[in-house]
Amino acid sequence: MIPYGKQDINQDDINAVIDVLSSDFITQGPVVPKFEQAIADYCQANYAVAVNSATSALHIACLALDIKQGDVVWTSPISFVASANCALYCGADVDFVDIDANTFNICPKALEQKLKQAKANKRLPKAIIVVHMAGVSCDLQVIAALTKPYEIKIIEDASHAIGAKYQDKPVGNCFYSDISIFSFHPVKIITSAEGGLATTNNAQLAEKMALYRSHGITREPEQLKQNTQETWYYEQQALGFNYRLTELQAALGLSQLNRLNEYVAKRHQLVTNYRNGLADLPISWQQVTDDNYPSYHLFIIRLTAQSPWSRKQVFDALRQAKIGVNVHYIPIHTQPYYQQLGFKEGDFVQAEQYYQACLSLPLYPQLTDEQQQYIINTIKALLTV
Ligand SMILES: *Cc1c(COP(=O)(O)O)cnc(C)c1O
Repeated sequence: MIPYGKQDINQDDINAVIDVLSSDFITQGPVVPKFEQAIADYCQANYAVAVNSATSALHIACLALDIKQGDVVWTSPISFVASANCALYCGADVDFVDIDANTFNICPKALEQKLKQAKANKRLPKAIIVVHMAGVSCDLQVIAALTKPYEIKIIEDASHAIGAKYQDKPVGNCFYSDISIFSFHPVKIITSAEGGLATTNNAQLAEKMALYRSHGITREPEQLKQNTQETWYYEQQALGFNYRLTELQAALGLSQLNRLNEYVAKRHQLVTNYRNGLADLPISWQQVTDDNYPSYHLFIIRLTAQSPWSRKQVFDALRQAKIGVNVHYIPIHTQPYYQQLGFKEGDFVQAEQYYQACLSLPLYPQLTDEQQQYIINTIKALLTV
């Protein structure tokens, strides 16, 4: 089976991890801060806080923004469930903003309308978590302009988008947002096996996230509430977690970061091949505006009404042909857990229509020309009418 995504591990990565294994620290050592600094530099953000997953990063981002019971957080229905769950972890309520059928990202028009309604109902969100679907940035400038009058915080779920640019600046620079988060799961652009990270330009938010990452405990003299001469002294100041990344993971991530630009360039080349190879078939793909240089975590096609086969038929036929296609994503509000919270089918029509016809094709740096040609030929044979 050709998978839809796959990590690329080379000898440098292996050596970097082995070096850590034979060093003094396998956790809480010097490599995690080095990794954080490298990502902050890459993203042109002031601060970076590394954690053990993007899910943890989303959780501490919400906590740092003081999201709690009684608050509302909005996100996209077309995302991984973690984008919404993080608000529930904090006791807040979640709601969704429908997507744009062309960009697969939160629709600015739908956002504008929903904000007006929410203002009238006195139920404005405290934060919005925007998702850069497949590594194509949302229209952050427009979203920031719409939310600013209400002082709504913006978290970018950039799990797909490390290495992407928006308005010629790296995604994660937080120019239009409070916090951006990344995932280093093996299917994402670079990996630390499991891992995540939050960037911000706000020193206080960075400090809070670092606190929540490690039990709410600090030893930093300038942060302590009690004045003490005792050098063993530490304070628990909040109810935090153990969300730490290990040195092994940070070493892998740091080594992978060296190849990030290469990876993204290769993904662009593969996407161009798909677009050329699959032209004139009853399919469409994600619209990318001139503001965007995507990281292309995914290449998603949508079957149009002219397709001779349903999405299920195409999915099954491609899996039969050992092509590991996938579906990103089942709309979050249709999950049983969310239905039990009161959401129902029909709540977000664009997201549901998108889901009916979407299919992610294999896309990763090591995908060979032969494999890609096989995928293209198989789809062509299936969909040529
Ligand atoms: C992968 C992903 C996450 C969760 O990432 P983990 O590192 O596995 O916790 C969150 N949001 C989106 C959009 C993702 O794709």
